[in-house]
Amino acid sequence: MTPAGAATLAERARRAAAMVRAAVEAEPDPRLHASERVRARLRIASLLGIPPTAVTVADDDRRATLAHAAVILAAADPADPAASYRFSIADPFYDDDTVRLLGACPVCGAEVPVRDIANLADLADADRPLEIPDCGSGSEGVSYSFADDRGHSGACTYGPGA
Ligand SMILES: [Zn+2]
Repeated sequence: MTPAGAATLAERARRAAAMVRAAVEAEPDPRLHASERVRARLRIASLLGIPPTAVTVADDDRRATLAHAAVILAAADPADPAASYRFSIADPFYDDDTVRLLGACPVCGAEVPVRDIANLADLADADRPLEIPDCGSGSEGVSYSFADDRGHSGACTYGPGA
């Protein structure tokens, strides 16, 4: 027996599958990647333990290699209306593609991946100032994508051309 008002895991799974079906029925053009977009929303909601309705998805034209392929996901915190987080999934075709927390580059100020988020514990460092290693990425908790991300401004010491 479940506590009053709580959905069983089976019920939640059916609702998630219904969300995917509804998104695909609403947007049957496969070039718009409705399935991948809604699955990315479900993934972020699951990772953060929040309802899928608290996550919105938008195209990430800066990081996409195909139209509508990469996504930016915005997550609202149901327990803190002032808090919100933005994440990048550069290739949502793969359910294991890295989830990257977006934040301001300490050099150019542009929105870039700052932390790789594998589980909720990784988000605990979201507010800690970035300590960029000499190699630019991949240690000190800095996202592996930080140094080469296309989001840096042209004048930044980081970015694909730097
Ligand atoms: Zn930068």
